Amino acid sequence: MHEAAIAQAILDTALTAAGQDGGKKIKIIRIVIVAGALAGIEQPSLEMYLTELARGTPAEGTVLELKSTPARLVCRTCGHAMPFDSGRTVDVQCDQCGGPNRLEADDACYLESIEVES
Ligand SMILES: [Zn+2]
Repeated sequence: MHEAAIAQAILDTALTAAGQDGGKKIKIIRIVIVAGALAGIEQPSLEMYLTELARGTPAEGTVLELKSTPARLVCRTCGHAMPFDSGRTVDVQCDQCGGPNRLEADDACYLESIEVES
């Protein structure tokens, strides 16, 4: 996924969500996004596009908060789950039963909340 397209989708969704209250003049001051570890979203890049696209809209100058959900290792045998730190070597065996692990991560990206000011 490309950040420019994601930024546009986020902005459209936020503007639609904020536009629901009868044409009152509002301002979107914060946008909270949740992205999985595999979504490959870089906050600086996303922020740059969002700032650019939001110019002249109620979301101009909004703060972007990106929360990422970490990947995890899950045992195929007993289901034991461990957080996966990408800076470390992958443990292929479960530390509970010695069974084989698989790597699980979310590639989802969604708008969690927006904060508006009227
Ligand atoms: Zn196990």
